[in-house]
Amino acid sequence: MFIIWGSRHSSKVLAEIGHFNCSHCHNTVPFNFVKHIDWFTLYFIPVIPMHTEYWAECPICSYGLEIEKKRAKEILIELKEEKQKYEAQ
Ligand SMILES: [Zn+2]
Repeated sequence: MFIIWGSRHSSKVLAEIGHFNCSHCHNTVPFNFVKHIDWFTLYFIPVIPMHTEYWAECPICSYGLEIEKKRAKEILIELKEEKQKYEAQ
């Protein structure tokens, strides 16, 4: 029996966070708050997240800056609170 294992990368845009001037493409746009995950896969199915990073990325050219995990968690809490306020209205 063969065990097929490997890795896969996934990324997900969680929200838009403020307008920034991109130092790469020079557009002023709302940057995306993106979560990147490197997965360990078994039979091509992502099973264990091995590495997670959060980035603020330009939606036009994908240039970005990594956000440190502590700050990213604060942003996630702020987004959750905003969503709850919006849903309560
Ligand atoms: Zn850009």
